[in-house]
Formats: sequence, C-alpha cells, structure tokens
Amino acid sequence: MDLKDKNILVVGLARTGVAVARFLVRQGARVTVTDMKGEAELSSWVEKLAGLPVKLELGRHDEQSFREAGLIVVSPGVPLDIRPLQVARDAGRSIVSEVELASRFITAPIAAITGTNGKTTTTTLTGELFKAAGFGTFVGGNIGNPLIEAVEPALSEEKANPCERVVVELSSFQLEGIERFRPRVAVLLNITEDHLDRYATYQEYIDAKLRIFMNQTAEDFAVLNVDDPLVAACADRLAARVVPTSQKRELPEGIFFKDGVITFRREGGEEHFPTAGYHLQGVHNIENIMAALATALLMGCDAATCQAAITAFRGLPHRMELVRTVNGVPWYEDSKATNVGSVEKALASFENITLIAGGKDKGGSYAPLAELVRTRVRHMVLIGEAKERIAKELGNLTDTHMAASLEEAVQTAATLTKPGGIVLFSPACSSFDMFRDYEERAERYKALVRVLGDKQC
Ligand code: ADP
Repeated sequence: MDLKDKNILVVGLARTGVAVARFLVRQGARVTVTDMKGEAELSSWVEKLAGLPVKLELGRHDEQSFREAGLIVVSPGVPLDIRPLQVARDAGRSIVSEVELASRFITAPIAAITGTNGKTTTTTLTGELFKAAGFGTFVGGNIGNPLIEAVEPALSEEKANPCERVVVELSSFQLEGIERFRPRVAVLLNITEDHLDRYATYQEYIDAKLRIFMNQTAEDFAVLNVDDPLVAACADRLAARVVPTSQKRELPEGIFFKDGVITFRREGGEEHFPTAGYHLQGVHNIENIMAALATALLMGCDAATCQAAITAFRGLPHRMELVRTVNGVPWYEDSKATNVGSVEKALASFENITLIAGGKDKGGSYAPLAELVRTRVRHMVLIGEAKERIAKELGNLTDTHMAASLEEAVQTAATLTKPGGIVLFSPACSSFDMFRDYEERAERYKALVRVLGDKQC
C-alpha cells in the first residue's frame, strides 16, 4: 500500500487518530484529521500533533473532504454508517479501518482474539506468554492501544522494541471494518447475545464476529471453543486449520481440560498443563487459558515457559475479583460482566450466591440465567434501569430484593448473606445508567465493601 503523496482523511482523533496521523505523515502522505468534537475538547490530542504537517477539521465533518480523499482511515469509535462515509462510499472512495491499515504494514505474525467475553483476559495472557518466551511482543487493539502503534510507537516510547509477535483484541465493530486482515491464529472464544442495542439482529452480530476468519488460508489456524454451539457450528466452513478447545470432552486433536489438567494434542504428541497452581479461577478462565495456550504453542512458545507464565498470571481487575472476605463471606467484584454470557460463567463458578445485578439494559434476554439462578443463587438484589425486567424474568426463581442504589444493594446483601455464602456483583448490564463506566461502578462497589463492618455479616 503506497501512501506517499496520497491525500488521506483520518476520521476520529484521540489516541488512534494521533497515532494514525503520525504514521501517515512518516509515510509521506498528505493528512487531514476530522472529528465531530471541537478543538477545545480535543486539545490534549491536538497538542500531540504539534509541528506535524496535519490539517485539522474539528467540530464538523466536511463532506467535500470525504468526497475528495484518496483514502479514508476510520478510528474504531466511529460507526461505519455515518452519513459522510456513505457519501464517500457513493463517490467510490476507498475506506479502511485503523486495524486494516495497521495490518497491511505489520510484518510480524498476528494472533487475533475475539468473542463476546474473555477477549481482554485472553489477549493479555497470550501477550504474557509471548513475552515470557522472549519474543518482542505488541499487545493492542480493542484492549487500549491502537494496533497502528505496532508500526508507529507511541510518543511515550522512545524507541520501538523489535516486534516479533502481535496480539490483537478485536471487537465486532472493529471486525466490521476489516478487508484483507489475515491473522496467523484467529481465536473465537464464545458468542452470546450482546450489543443488541447496536445491531439490528443477533445474526448481524454473529456475522461480524466470524469475519475474523474470512481471509485465513490453510496455512493459518482457527482456535475454536467447541463447547459453544455457535462457535462449533462454524468449524466446517473455515479455510484455516481448526484447533478445537473443550472442557467438556477429551479431543483426539486440539486442547482440552480434564481432571485438573489441560492437554494439548497435536500431530501424535501431547503436552500437559496441570492447573492446580493457577491464580485465574472459574470455568470461563479455563476457556481463556486454553485459547491463549493453544495460540502461544502454535506460534512458537514452549510448554514449560507457558506453564510458568500462566501460573504467574494474576488476572485483571474487575473480572471476578475478590475484594475482601468479611466474616467468612467473600465479596467478589465482576463489574466487567456487562452481558448475560459473562454472568452465566460467574454463576457457574460459585454456589450459595447473593447476586447483585442490574444496570443499563442492553435489550437481550436474561432467561439463559434461569437455571443457574434457581440452583445457585440464594438471594438476588437488583439495581438500575434493568431491575424490573430482570425481576420479571428471574425474580420468581429465588429470594429477590430491589435496591434504589448500589449503596443500598450492598447493605441488603450484607444483611442477607450468612457465612458459607458469597456475594457477587456481576451486573449483566452496562453501567451507563448510574456511572461513567464499568470501572467507576467497580470502584464504588469496592469502596462500599471495604468499609463494611464485620458485625454486618
Ligand atoms: P472482554 O474483553 O471480552 O469484555 P474480559 O476478559 O474483559 O472480556 O471479561 C469480561 C467479563 O466476562 C468479566 O466479567 C469476566 O469475568 C467474564 N469472562 C471472562 N472470560 C469469559 C469467558 N471465556 N466466557 C464468559 N465470560 C467470561
């Protein structure tokens, strides 16, 4: 892809836009950056472009610029169906996402990870495995740092490390914007209902996820969690070599979990990974570990190094994190559980649960939780906009309480839960009804749990 002297429009500033613009300038392109936010709001990002020959069109999208651009690069936060992009499409302009652009310039093998849940945990762990094996590793994408930084190091980094392995987390939205992106290993962890507030149908969301495989060939690998029926169903349609993962059955080829040991079987050989010393807990994390392990082993890491790195990995905050134990009752914070699929796995990991759930409803059904709520949840305390809907679908299955705030929910849970039980804050909803984001929600919950007196339990 020759960018020299090309007239390129970057849509969306912030961190990705800055990195893309800097990269394009270095390639000799003529760069314009546009964003609907104004200069005042974007001032910290504008500063980072100081001294570079970049034209800014802020506070507006100028359709003329879209019509005339030789290439348009779209940041991940920008929906692909905004009107100026339609105009550009109609005018025959070529439009690529930032991930697509970056992938055309990355020479290191790429591991790409998607799924409804577990992406960040699996991506981070896979990165750790590569680093432990001594590879110069870039970890990015949906996880925080834009993929383009694999070829255009962030300003804070003086010098790029040699990049020998790239691990990229991809959301369904990012996958919509790829064209030729071709990962050496593509991982699909699971597909459950999510983002129905942003997709017209569930099928559209599934189709977006499956795009991760679309450019792979028989030289590449698709790591598929075959315990998930939707994931298993795509296995026959892929050009890549399928490496299945399962914790439900022993596989003749692939990676599976049985009796406390993960086994990787390939080409007649076997490698074993006892899980007893791992910090990552829960059935879902076995899924994530198997995916990370398969990816790392397929891309040149050795078994002993992987085992040591997994054992050392402590997991990420806000994903089933133990806050503290009060009077024999462990209090878990799982604020990142913003959909039903993630709560399903959290419930399957405990018994005798007091579940605090609710938040902003995303339009899906809570019914997949019914059996787990009936058998494992002793008390349920509901908050937020979604509380009525959750109560309607699940309230008759267990002792259910309503709370007007998170503070009240924590107090109610403290009163209800007896030693031997656990309290789990796993909302199944996004946080935007009451909080800025899931992190603020998590911190509020943790602060409340930290000041709980022992007498309350
Ligand atoms: P993502 O990046 O896909 O949102 P995270 O690793 O951040 O995934 O985890 C998000 C939520 O999903 C957390 O509540 C976590 O405990 C849960 N989770 C993690 N891995 C899985 C999995 N494989 N299946 C279901 N839920 C998971």
